[in-house]
Amino acid sequence: MADILVLAETEDGAVVPATLEALTAARQLDGDVHVLLCGDSVDADDAAERLGEYGASTVHVGESDLLNVFGPEAWGQALALAIEEISPDVVLASGTSKGNEVLAMAAARLDLPFVANCTELPSELADDDEVELTRVQWGGSLLEQSQLSAETRIVSIAHHALEAESAGGSAAATETIDMEIDDLYARTQVVGREMAEAGVTLATAPIVFGGGRAVGSAEAFAPLEECASLMGGRVGCSRAVTNNGWRPHRDQVGQTGTRIAPELYVASGISGAIQHWVGAMASKQILAINTDPEANMVVKADYFVEGDLHQVIPAVAEEIKKRKA
Ligand SMILES: Cc1cc2nc3c(=O)[nH]c(=O)nc-3n(C[C@H](O)[C@H](O)[C@H](O)COP(=O)(O)OP(=O)(O)OC[C@H]3O[C@@H](n4cnc5c(N)ncnc54)[C@H](O)[C@@H]3O)c2cc1C
Repeated sequence: MADILVLAETEDGAVVPATLEALTAARQLDGDVHVLLCGDSVDADDAAERLGEYGASTVHVGESDLLNVFGPEAWGQALALAIEEISPDVVLASGTSKGNEVLAMAAARLDLPFVANCTELPSELADDDEVELTRVQWGGSLLEQSQLSAETRIVSIAHHALEAESAGGSAAATETIDMEIDDLYARTQVVGREMAEAGVTLATAPIVFGGGRAVGSAEAFAPLEECASLMGGRVGCSRAVTNNGWRPHRDQVGQTGTRIAPELYVASGISGAIQHWVGAMASKQILAINTDPEANMVVKADYFVEGDLHQVIPAVAEEIKKRKA
């Protein structure tokens, strides 16, 4: 049976949901799933329970003072040491910026190849030294076929390429790896974090009300703001909107903006250009409001309202208020 080692990414004292996606992908391979948990920023027992639920059999806790805060070189060195200790066939992480950074560091240390942001993991990945993989580039607008040939296959699965699914497993076993990590690897460390915004963010919002060029002005976003606040969601927009200075760049959805994955994306007055679509395509359901029934966003949407957003959105807000009353 193959051994698969998954890197756990942590934030604010917990394992991040992206790691659960990586575990879900790892389970699709026929193998024993190990996890590397770096440092003590997360309670190991809590993590073992959560990670076990998603299919991990063993959580290896890398112990070193240099791992207690995130640092790409130190975490990369920890992963390289864990690879040497566990000798996995496959090393996996979610293709977040941290996940890719740490995998790249470990691969460079061990002189191994690394394929980032794969769309899926073929079952041969666990067993064969040579395997073909498809990976996304340019924010999703380019798919590249790559061939990976290595005894230890290091790959990341594109963030949001699949949904995390619980395996209903019990808590994983925990083992400690005492890591001797030289100060040399502490050159870059996170020493502080400042959230640009509090609460629900565009990337995590369960519902996003997006507006495009057809909204027409900064002020005209008010009905979209109202809908978002009534539903506990966020307002998003297209680049045409940010280019016009109607909304800040942090609200932009797309290749050069934020990738969203809400339960519902309401895209109003947005044509659905490829650069916008790659940021919106992970939405579970899309409702397009547009005057053009042939717009790309309409063709791809689950639901479509043909009409002027300046009439439809205020009517939606009124309806939400009526139902909430
Ligand atoms: C390198 C690069 C990166 C890019 N990155 C991004 C990105 O990250 N995000 C992004 O969004 N774009 C990005 N773009 C820009 C992208 O190509 C499009 O130009 C942009 O998304 C168009 O924005 P839009 O849909 O709001 O405007 P338009 O394409 O002008 O679409 C307006 C839509 O509104 C509809 N409409 C008109 N009037 C009404 C009305 N009254 N009611 C309802 N519907 C109406 C129209 O039928 C049309 O479908 C990028 C481009 C490049 C070259």
